Amino acid sequence: MPELPEVEVVRRSLQKFIIGKKIKKIEILNKNLRYKIDKKLKKVAENQKVVSTKRKSKYLLIELSNKHTILLHLGMTGKIFILKNNKVFKTSFYYEKLFYEKHNHFIFNFNKSEILIYNDVRKFGFIKIFKTKNVKTCSHIKNLGPDPLSEQFNSEYMKRTIPKIKKNIKNFLMDQKYVSGIGNIYANEIIHLSTISPRKKVYNLSAKKISLLVKNVKKILKEAIRFGGSSIKDFRGIGGDKGNFQQKFRVYNREGCTCKKKACGGLIKKIYISNRSSFFCSICQNN
Ligand SMILES: [Zn+2]
Repeated sequence: MPELPEVEVVRRSLQKFIIGKKIKKIEILNKNLRYKIDKKLKKVAENQKVVSTKRKSKYLLIELSNKHTILLHLGMTGKIFILKNNKVFKTSFYYEKLFYEKHNHFIFNFNKSEILIYNDVRKFGFIKIFKTKNVKTCSHIKNLGPDPLSEQFNSEYMKRTIPKIKKNIKNFLMDQKYVSGIGNIYANEIIHLSTISPRKKVYNLSAKKISLLVKNVKKILKEAIRFGGSSIKDFRGIGGDKGNFQQKFRVYNREGCTCKKKACGGLIKKIYISNRSSFFCSICQNN
């Protein structure tokens, strides 16, 4: 499931490909995504130029020249591919496999040789269009907590927010109304780097741990973006894969392996917290 870094990597790729280009035609192959694709999308977005690409939490915002903005969510398996001169480009290194055409749901035609394809196996993603001035107050965006990479997400914000919250640290980081964009993978990684037990109640964090946690939230997310981004730099077509995103994980999916922290030597354990797999070091995160 794409989390903030994966969505940001897609955004940066799109920025390179679609800025300033006119959407000449939108083909809707299957309108039944998480929300039915509104006919308005075609009517409002066709023949408009792409002015900017932004990201809010896990949402992609594609701003158009007629003061409308396309809101796109990748759901669980949504992927964007660019077809340029008959060559397929992935917009994220996160995509491991080539796509099957039967899961293509809509296509933006920029011109004869440049096409954007939205592919989504499980169809939990969606696309909507809003007047740009109304995007911030739409139901998807208005209740989101601060973006973890924004200045608003800082120690002061945490100190103000956590005293009344009875959640453990892991569920807190994954609750979009407190901080938006972090999912299961990065929550595990952030908590490990901060040497906090995933079960620790968030109101029990010391001031020192809070500032360490805020620092590590930003550090881990930036690291993941940079790693994804490094594969964009020499943006290769399908078949040009290199590296492996998962090699970067410190705890996620590393059950039974040794902790990567120097001089720790603990083993990574797996437990379930609110039905989500949680990986932590049995020694350094035992607090
Ligand atoms: Zn450890």
